[in-house]
Amino acid sequence: MRVIDLLFPRRCPLCRAVLDAASDRLCPACAEAFSRECAARCAACGRPADGCTCVPRAAAPHLTPVGGRAVLFIGFYDPERLPLTARLLYTLKHSPDRAASAVFARAMSAALTRRFLSCGEKPSGWRITYLPRTPAALRRDGFDHGRRLAALCARSTGARLCTLLDRSGAEEQKTLDAQGRRENAEASLRLRRGASVRGEKIILCDDVVTSGATAARAARLLLAEGAEAVFLLTALRTGQALPPASPEVP
Ligand SMILES: [Zn+2]
Ligand SMILES: [Zn+2]
Repeated sequence: MRVIDLLFPRRCPLCRAVLDAASDRLCPACAEAFSRECAARCAACGRPADGCTCVPRAAAPHLTPVGGRAVLFIGFYDPERLPLTARLLYTLKHSPDRAASAVFARAMSAALTRRFLSCGEKPSGWRITYLPRTPAALRRDGFDHGRRLAALCARSTGARLCTLLDRSGAEEQKTLDAQGRRENAEASLRLRRGASVRGEKIILCDDVVTSGATAARAARLLLAEGAEAVFLLTALRTGQALPPASPEVP
């Protein structure tokens, strides 16, 4: 064990238990609870996250399906029924600790690779970018967790990380109603100066998809600039969840 680990032991970001193995990001109890929550099902279609095709209506027309999916996410944002996932998301957004981004990115990368390879699509032929935080959120937290997720997903899937979008002067989306979100997203997002996307296939990475308004705006921008395809990869989708289906009794 390194001296630094004795002085400042690495801790589970959710329960603060000291982590034993260097590769652990969550303690065994929280890791198990998280994977149980990830098996929850969509209340609308009854499928688990990686099979749910309930694409937010605003985003659907602008995204490109790969293997039957235009949006891929690994869990649901439902704080009442899935409290641990909600806390992990909070840590991802607001804590400098990188454990939460590693946990989400690992699951997102695995889901993306499975989905792409199942239809002969190679992630390495795609670029990966992120929906940048608003300047206000960046000032408050000091980092962009969307970029962290995209960078980790790039590393483990082989997609090429690029910063393609800029956002300025926008209000934080969560303080707005649906109409306000749409207008705010329209007003604030633009292609980064000098970025070229002609003929490129682009994975757009984000933490949570709610109305899909920002993702739709980003996808429209990228397609208007000549991008060939835009696919949305998020950690979570907002929506009610049902408990996992019980295993079939033979
Ligand atoms: Zn824990
Ligand atoms: Zn669904």
